[in-house]
Parts: sequence; structure tokens; C-alpha cells
Amino acid sequence: MLLNEPHPLEVKVLTRRYKYPQQDPIWLEQYVADEGYDAIRKALTMQPEEIIDEVKKSSLRGRGGAGFPTGLKWSFVDRKSPKPKYIVVNGDEGEPGTCKDRIIMGHEPHRLIEGCLVAGRAIGSNRGWVYIRGEYREYIDIMDRAIQEAYDKGYLGDNVLGSGWAFHLSTHTGAGSYECGEESALLESLEGKRGNPRLKPPFPATSGAFQAPTIVNNVETYSAVPEIILKGGEWFAGLGTPRNGGTRLVCLSGHLNRPGVYEVPLGMNMMTLINEVGGGVWKGRKLKAVIPGGSSSPILRADECDIPADYDSLAKAGSMLGSGATVVLDETADIVKVLARLMAFYAHESCGWCIPCREGTTWLKKIMARLDEGVGTKRDIDMVDQLAQGMMGRTFCALGDAAAMPAMSYVRKFREEFEAKIQSAQVFMPAPQTQPLV
Ligand code: NAD
Repeated sequence: MLLNEPHPLEVKVLTRRYKYPQQDPIWLEQYVADEGYDAIRKALTMQPEEIIDEVKKSSLRGRGGAGFPTGLKWSFVDRKSPKPKYIVVNGDEGEPGTCKDRIIMGHEPHRLIEGCLVAGRAIGSNRGWVYIRGEYREYIDIMDRAIQEAYDKGYLGDNVLGSGWAFHLSTHTGAGSYECGEESALLESLEGKRGNPRLKPPFPATSGAFQAPTIVNNVETYSAVPEIILKGGEWFAGLGTPRNGGTRLVCLSGHLNRPGVYEVPLGMNMMTLINEVGGGVWKGRKLKAVIPGGSSSPILRADECDIPADYDSLAKAGSMLGSGATVVLDETADIVKVLARLMAFYAHESCGWCIPCREGTTWLKKIMARLDEGVGTKRDIDMVDQLAQGMMGRTFCALGDAAAMPAMSYVRKFREEFEAKIQSAQVFMPAPQTQPLV
């Protein structure tokens, strides 16, 4: 487990019941003894519109990475549609650096189940799935056991808490594909097909699983809902900054003294996060750069990091909060190698469904490999930028952009490192007569 001892600057909402050091997950009896399932009891007395309004007031935004307003997404579901409505939890958690959803599922599976129940009630659903990446066997088992406990005690089933409303939930296992974390590819996989993305619109809220209205939200997003219902949307919104409500679980990794997962209010300054919560850059070294929101997010130079870590501030700074994975790079980090490694990852994970992504990620990987090995040219540096620009916005899903955005930002912000690598290599070896094409 990556959960550190609590830090005084943390604000514990989703993690408030956690014990340190963690032993077993919080099972049903313990959860119920401390307000567990009170939110669904309350939600059962509310009108669906009231539940959605409360979530809207909370300014909860999607914690998977895109930060789409959750209440707004729920309001897109046509409750009067004769089709069934579905709840899907995205627990695929594939973004490099991201390791928070497993903390939630591993510590408090019933919080997630309760969030699904409230969401199900809000959109008039009777069925949900928790889609979990196959590598998370341990957490799939924990969720399965918790779901069984909830069935045994009447929190799930044909008659939830005697209300006459049926809600069924089960886990569904992925098989190791990053692409299946993209919501439409996830839905294809859930339906038993190859995990290729779908063209959007229609968005899942209109036509999702089995072509029925479906809410797809991240594990952390659903897990914030019980607290919002119990304490009110305004209370939750007040914990963060305007339009960026609540707390989030941040996965601090890289060259830090205290890497780990911490729960902090949205809008905490990035430097406070690094220097206070994360204990500062390790070995007394200087900060070179930060990947603020998972590997897809454009990199920030050290001098760009004095900003609030919320969706809007990071977007204004040309990056994104993403999935809460903040990777810290010290002054010795080899930026060219980092990008080469990332491009190899995206080329491997591209599903190949659309050409700009399949070809673009492959070319980026090959060009970056030769730049990293010191056999590239200055033209290669420009080509990385041009190729990435050509991919942006031209693919079915966000994977193409996810590779292109870091590529552009790394070469633009650290061009001198790319050039230095070429020059230092030429000291030792003559420039090749002909450049390999790819
Ligand atoms: P997106 O902006 O296309 O959509 C975000 C969400 O809002 C989706 O659920 C979508 O259905 C919904 N939405 C957007 N516009 C809508 C509309 N007009 N009507 C109804 N619903 C609408 O982003 P995305 O492609 O789903 O996600 C990209 C993000 O995923 C990236 O920012 C990245 O940070 C993140 N990501 C996370 C992980 C992880 O492991 N958590 C992995 C890879 C990528």
C-alpha cells in the first residue's frame, strides 16, 4: 500500500475512516458503524433531481482526469427513456503515476458501492458494473467480497433497504490494456468485444453500455458522493476553489522524500504539495520539472510550479490536473530519456484503431529512441513537435492527444537538453552518413 502516515496539511474526507498503518479493508460492519450507508438511506428519501442538484452544487469534477462536472454528466441521462440505465465505475487506472483508485478500493470498498447506489438512484438505474484492470486482482477480490456483504445485508439486490428499488452491482475484469480505461473502449470491453474506442458523440450518458444511457465515472468520483449527500454540496465545494470542489487524492511520486498518496484540498499550491506534503526534493537536489497530472499532461518547468493545483489553474498554465499523478523530477533527471520512455509506452498501448495514433505513436517512439541514443539530428527534434501537432485532435479517443501533448511540451520547454544529447554523442561518434528513416 502506498498510503503514508497522514500529513497535517491533508484534509481527510474520502480517507477519513482509514487507520494507520492499514491492516484489513474496512468491511461492512465497521463501515456501517460509522455513518456507512447513511447517504443512500438519505438519498432514498430525496427526489432524483435533488440528488443531482446536490452533486452539481458540490462542483465535483471527474477524478479520472478530464474534470468534467459530475452533476452535469448525470443530468444528461434521460430518466424517462424506456431503455435501462447503467452505472459504470472506471477502475482501470492505467495512467502512469496513478495509484489512488486502488487505495480507495483496497481500504474502503463500501464507500464506492454506496457512491454507485446514490448515482443509480439519481439516474433511475438498476444495474452497475465496477470495471477493474486485470492486474488489480487483490482489489477485484476485495470488491467482490464487499459486494457480497452488501447483498447479504440488503444494501444491494431486488429491494434495496426495503425501498422496492432494485440495484445490482458486480465487478468486471479488464485484461491489461491501457486503452480500456478510455470510457468508450471500456464499454466495448464490458460488452465482450475488443476494446476499441467509439466515436463521440454520442457520449455514454446518451448511448453507453449496450446502447443504453450510461454514467461512466472514476472510482474516486463515485467515492466522493456519499459525503456530498451527507454533508451537502456546498460544504464539499467549500473545501476546494471556485468550480473545483472538494479534495482529491494525489499520487506523489518521483524524486521526493515522502512519495505516497495523500488527500489534499483542490487548489493546494503545487510547491506546497512538493515541499511540505511530499517532504521536498530528495537528496537536497533542486527541482527541474513536474509532470502534474499523469504522463499525458504537459510538463511544467520548476519556475512554472508556483500555482494552485486545480483543474482551471493547471489548464491556464498549459497543462492539466489529470488523474492526480504528480511526478517530480530533480535536476539530474534526463528529460530526453523520460520522453523516450513515455513514447514507447504510448506506442505499445495504442490500440491501432485510428491511423494518426497508430502511426504517430510508432514514429514518435522511434524518433525519440534515436534522440535518446544520441544518433538523432536537430531535424528529429522538430519532427517530434510536428508529428505531435499532426496527431492532436485527429483520433477517436484521447490516447493520441495523450502522447502528443507531452511530446510537444518536452521538446519546446527543454529543447536545449535534446540538442545537448545530440552534441555530446557527436563528440564520441561520427554523424551517420544516412539517417535511418524511422
Ligand atoms: P473527455 O473530456 O472527452 O470526457 C470526459 C467525460 O465527460 C467523459 O465521461 C465524457 O463522456 C463526458 N462528456 C464530455 N463531453 C460531454 C457531453 N457533451 N455530453 C455528455 N458527456 C460528456 O475526456 P476523456 O477522453 O473521457 O478522458 C481524458 C482524460 O483521461 C485525460 O485528461 C487523462 O487525464 C485521463 N486519463 C486517466 C487515466 C487514469 O488512469 N485515470 C488514464 C488515461 C487517461
